Amino acid sequence: MTMASVNPATGQTVQTFDEATDEQVDAAIGRAHDAYRALRGTTFAQRAGWMNAAADLLEGGADDTARMMTTEMGKTLAAAKAEVTKCATACRFYAEHAEEFLADEPADADAVNPTRAFTRYQPIGPVLAVMPWNFPLWQVIRFAAPALMAGNTGLLKHASNVPQTALFLEDLFTRAGYPAGSFQALLIDSKKVERVLTDPRVRAATLTGSERAGRSVAEIAGRELKKTVLELGGSDPFVVMPSADLDRAAQVATTARCQNNGQSCIAAKRFIVHADVYDAFAEKFVAAMSALRVGDPMADGTDVGPLATEKGREDIEEQVRDAVDKGARVLCGGQRPDGPGWYYPPTVVAELTPQMRMYAEEVFGPVAGLYRVSSYAEAIELANGTPFGLGSNAWTRDEAEQQRFAADLDAGSVFVNGMTTSYPQLPFGGVKNSGYGRELSAWGIREFCNVKTVWVG
Ligand code: NDP
Repeated sequence: MTMASVNPATGQTVQTFDEATDEQVDAAIGRAHDAYRALRGTTFAQRAGWMNAAADLLEGGADDTARMMTTEMGKTLAAAKAEVTKCATACRFYAEHAEEFLADEPADADAVNPTRAFTRYQPIGPVLAVMPWNFPLWQVIRFAAPALMAGNTGLLKHASNVPQTALFLEDLFTRAGYPAGSFQALLIDSKKVERVLTDPRVRAATLTGSERAGRSVAEIAGRELKKTVLELGGSDPFVVMPSADLDRAAQVATTARCQNNGQSCIAAKRFIVHADVYDAFAEKFVAAMSALRVGDPMADGTDVGPLATEKGREDIEEQVRDAVDKGARVLCGGQRPDGPGWYYPPTVVAELTPQMRMYAEEVFGPVAGLYRVSSYAEAIELANGTPFGLGSNAWTRDEAEQQRFAADLDAGSVFVNGMTTSYPQLPFGGVKNSGYGRELSAWGIREFCNVKTVWVG
């Protein structure tokens, strides 16, 4: 069996790779287990040295790495470079803060009798990371940096369409100086995930991707009594209230929907606008979406490149067709261009109803759903009325209303008057079908630790 790296801008196969055999996978798990024993005996300072070296390598090779990602999954070169820089920042963040995040925590001396008791965070062993193609470097680094700094080791099953990036990541940590086997890429089909996860040497799993994949991994992990962190899809609401700065809201709405060619779990996807400002917002939003330049992701000045896969484009075309057939109105876009590559234009669809797939499903491409509401209560009901709960966005200059949104939006994050994004310093994750557990910040590094109680009499 082979795995292919295919350029979404042309549809041409760039490179093929052999999939790993069962024997190779078992040997890799063995190396991950051995490396864990070596790594848990190292100090934070040693691990921080390697993690900072990984950051240096990322920064030093940013141009080549960005070109590799753009060729493999179609994001614009500028977005790819920004992703490399963000990864280096996250590596440095955990190099600097891991020791403090995992320091012993003394218990309240009065409450614990007789003398000393504290919480200690210890690594647990090899962790399987099942990762998606949309941010092929960042999604992996935000797992790998805290995991390796904690003293765990990583086995990466990356998405099948980004094998070059998968191998680059393994090589990155080897070159940075981590003991052999600390971080390895397994070029395997998703059907082989069960074999890896049921191996007793693999202690936990993290998955970023679709609900379907998340349920499958969680089911296997449940049977095996292994911890999981799941970061799944989202259909984030972007609520615009009468007091909002409409120019800024429309600009950010456009970036938020179309960043990464519309393929981000925390992209704003449903634009819920108060009737008092609906027409004004819609006009600005449609103008800004229509002005985006769609084209070669390598070219300067391109805003939106192709979708990563042919199937991804077919999926959003079907969702838009379904809405139009049932009475929705396309305000801009909505037609694939002729020619090679899996391009789809920025599209705004209005007058959506619950009978349409777009109403409840995630749309993983540059297609926005526009909704009109007549009150705060209606906005919240619509915003919370999907199976997802990843990020959320609210636009209002009314401070009391800002607080109400923070309290009432049923999501893993609420961003007010700014774009939802991930920061190493802040926890990231969802509620409902968007998954569970948290990445980044102190929360992310503790997810795969044994939180050990130590009591000394
Ligand atoms: P998938 O969930 O299929 O892929 C993500 C990762 O999971 C890949 O490594 C994939 O491997 C693996 N995988 C898929 N199925 C299984 C399974 N049954 N058991 C174990 N691992 C599995 O995402 P797609 O690429 O198909 O994208 C489809 C949808 O997923 C999007 O429309 C979007 O909703 C969501 N998604 C969300 C992302 C996010 O950031 N939250 C990122 C990407 C997608 P392989 O490639 O070999 O199939």
